[in-house]
Amino acid sequence: MPVRTDVYTQIANEASTSQATLVAVSKTKPIKDIRALYDAGQRDFGENYVQELTTKQPQLPADIRWHYIGHLQSNKVKYIAPFIHLVHGVDSLKLVKEIGKQGQKNSRVIDCLLQVHIAQEETKFGLDANELEETIGELSREPLSHVRITGLMGMASFTSDMNKVRDEFRYLKSLYDKYASVQTEGIRFVNLSMGMSADYRIALEEGSTMIRVGSLLFGERG
Ligand SMILES: *Cc1c(COP(=O)(O)O)cnc(C)c1O
Repeated sequence: MPVRTDVYTQIANEASTSQATLVAVSKTKPIKDIRALYDAGQRDFGENYVQELTTKQPQLPADIRWHYIGHLQSNKVKYIAPFIHLVHGVDSLKLVKEIGKQGQKNSRVIDCLLQVHIAQEETKFGLDANELEETIGELSREPLSHVRITGLMGMASFTSDMNKVRDEFRYLKSLYDKYASVQTEGIRFVNLSMGMSADYRIALEEGSTMIRVGSLLFGERG
């Protein structure tokens, strides 16, 4: 299926009206599709497998901002550390520390979002409110120099009940607001990553600053 540039223009406008960033989720999609969206003006792309990302990245223009949106294993951080723009799904202090270590090796500060578990499903990754509190507390007491927490990320339940989805986004926004005043060396909240193809409009209404949209732009994944 060809890339839907008309839909792209529409969603990019909606995001920009809300002063949000559209991350085009290109996982499983070929280089030529990413190219087509790049040529239409898109610069932020999201991938969720390290190997796929490191294969695609050198084949595409260097001014693309790559977002890692999957669950990142500590032993794979080193492969994306040289170029990654933002790591969305960070859910342990161990991973934050590894990202800091690899940031230092690459002489850069790597921005990350802490993932919060907001959905009903058991299977989704992320911190609960207590773990988030502990993680942020720990990082404010002992700031790391080459990693910066710039906000939160979450995924709503996979349901057609949009009231439930809205409640989950509201909850995430309330946690985001709670920590927005924390300003230490390693923590500065500017990004609230929530909303996908099925729920990005609700997410924008509830204060998202970053929507991650795949299938609406690239077509369903096989
Ligand atoms: C795949 C994925 C998306 C995009 O999903 P669509 O429903 O195709 O828009 C967004 N966020 C994460 C974390 C994903 O894994």
